[in-house]
Amino acid sequence: GRINVAIDGPAGAGKSTVARKVAEQLGYIYVDTGAMYRAVAYAAIGAGIGPDDSDKLGRLVQTLRIELAPGSEGQTVWLNGENVTSAIRTREVTLIVSQIASHEPVRLKLVGLQRALADSKGIVMDGRDIGTHVLPGAEVKVFLVASVEVRALRRFQELSGDQAVPIEQLEREIAERDRSDERREISPLICAKDAEVIDSTELTIDQVVERILDLCRT
Ligand code: C5P
Repeated sequence: GRINVAIDGPAGAGKSTVARKVAEQLGYIYVDTGAMYRAVAYAAIGAGIGPDDSDKLGRLVQTLRIELAPGSEGQTVWLNGENVTSAIRTREVTLIVSQIASHEPVRLKLVGLQRALADSKGIVMDGRDIGTHVLPGAEVKVFLVASVEVRALRRFQELSGDQAVPIEQLEREIAERDRSDERREISPLICAKDAEVIDSTELTIDQVVERILDLCRT
């Protein structure tokens, strides 16, 4: 029968690429929960709401219709009918998203959406709190890690042109976002007790995908 797969880990460990491929192989639906938090951050910027304003963010999130449409090149993200797929990947959004995600009303709303998506099984979901909080009953749980140097290098190679940022700065920003995700009060980034830890520092994407598919077969 169909199962649910939870993939968590720090920023830039390769979760989304790996999760998308695993979903493709299993014929499952991939859900990128980070994209949902990013959509809220993008909406907050547009509405002029600061990343510390919990009350206003809580009201804002109730007005948002966030939809994820699966596609071969990742997923298309829609926010109130606007295609925000690339807009949510800017540094401006990346720099505030962790703070946005620390507020309880924001998390309550998005976790509700995420659980509803996973109701019928056959979901590969990636994020920070999927195995611990969103889908504690997921049949396969993976905690994907990699050295901060490798994660910064991978991000560096993705960014180009006017988005180019020195690698040392990326490293600092990634470490800072991890710290903030690990230290928040509500469902912090932490490895679930029953998760399989995979270190991708010296593995290729396909090797990581194979290991996860193995876990799904057993
Ligand atoms: O995965 P991605 O890096 O796009 O996630 C962006 C941010 O969204 C994370 O740094 C984290 O603060 C937040 N997030 C979260 N819980 C999730 C997924 C993402 O708090 N399940």
